[in-house]
Amino acid sequence: MRVLKFGGTSVGSVENMIQVKEIVNDQQKKIVVLSAMSGTTNALVAISNDIKEGNKSSAVTRIDTLEVSYTTTIQSLFSDAVILQDVQAYVKDIFFTLKSTIDQVYHPSTYNTIVSYGELLSTYIFSAYLRQEGINVQLLPALDFMRIDRNHEPDTFYIRQNIHRRMDELPAADIYITQGFICLDVDGKVSNLQRGGSDYTATIIGAAIHAEEVQIWTDIDGFHNNDPRFVEKTTPISNLSFDEAAELAYFGAKILHPQTVTPVRELDIPVRLKNTMKPNAHGTLITNNVHGEGIKAIAAKDGITAIKIKSGRMLLAHGFLKKIFEIFERYETSIDMITTSEIAVSLTIDDATHLDPIVEELERFSFVEVDQQQAIVCLVGHSIIYHHQTHKLFQILQDVAIRMISYGGSHNNISLLIHSDHKIETLQRLHTYLFDAVTV
Ligand code: ASP
Ligand code: MG
Repeated sequence: MRVLKFGGTSVGSVENMIQVKEIVNDQQKKIVVLSAMSGTTNALVAISNDIKEGNKSSAVTRIDTLEVSYTTTIQSLFSDAVILQDVQAYVKDIFFTLKSTIDQVYHPSTYNTIVSYGELLSTYIFSAYLRQEGINVQLLPALDFMRIDRNHEPDTFYIRQNIHRRMDELPAADIYITQGFICLDVDGKVSNLQRGGSDYTATIIGAAIHAEEVQIWTDIDGFHNNDPRFVEKTTPISNLSFDEAAELAYFGAKILHPQTVTPVRELDIPVRLKNTMKPNAHGTLITNNVHGEGIKAIAAKDGITAIKIKSGRMLLAHGFLKKIFEIFERYETSIDMITTSEIAVSLTIDDATHLDPIVEELERFSFVEVDQQQAIVCLVGHSIIYHHQTHKLFQILQDVAIRMISYGGSHNNISLLIHSDHKIETLQRLHTYLFDAVTV
């Protein structure tokens, strides 16, 4: 069986839902994972913030606007009066419940409950639509089997047991539709796999049922060799290894949730990225196999903070790094890049929520310098650190002020830290040199 995940844009309009129906309706048994319709989760996050901050009228306006967009969509999607009525009742119910939270006391779990409505809505609507079109479909509620443990990791044993149990209980169907992103936490409360988590849901399910393939359908034809938002003439990459994909997912333009390949790589289940609007395009196939040599892709990530920690006592001292890392660990802040010299350590973080207390603690035993608005530019390709092309890299970057370099952390990645202002220029320059020149 295959698992097919469709992103927000793929189910974001009537036309696109019709297109998704064409893709999934091929007589093969499958599980379809859906995100919320595009824009919905952002709207729900804004509603949750309004409620948290007591901006009741703003929350009401946002809820009403969202409700109108749903009622309009379903009016044009359904021709069967009975199914339309059923969906209308469901949508009304969700919005009624959402509105009722405005007057309740806000609790951190309120956010989780509110953002779960996006996927509940999209899956209910889409499964009803498939039913209307005569397809044998069943709704498979994610909250009946998808659970995370105390460390917020998927509880794989529980998931495997319960997805099979739940599917066996349902009448046999050609297509099982389930919600991406949402899950239960260890206390049985509604939670989620973080923003963009539907991709992760798809591979967690893929691993649980030993799927033959997991397909992630979005609005782009796979990973490109550079960021198409900033660089012209980027091309899709046909094949990536799990390692390369994992490096790129963290950096690359939010195409894939960073954890996506983790559940399936050991089971060797291929992941295929496809474009809903261009279903015949090859997309990107991610497997254990390695294809091609040299630098395959360039990607960048903004919003990085660099921290330089300098101490005379570091010289020949052991335990210095441990002391530093413990502070970051206590504030649950993960470190991305790191370089060291005899007297200083430079590292980067992408979540600066606890920057102030972290710096305060570091300053107790060292001099600390903080640079914000940094960007990590990362080059990915199998064994690129050994490739002759890579050694010319530094010539190309002669005019760019590089703040840090990470080389050899993995064989497949070289990361450069630069100021965000130079990001686009750096991406373009690297592209021209590394890719354009090769193709002429
Ligand atoms: N709907 C959720 C989000 O927008 C999950 C997802 O789309 O993957 O983050
Ligand atoms: Mg996504």
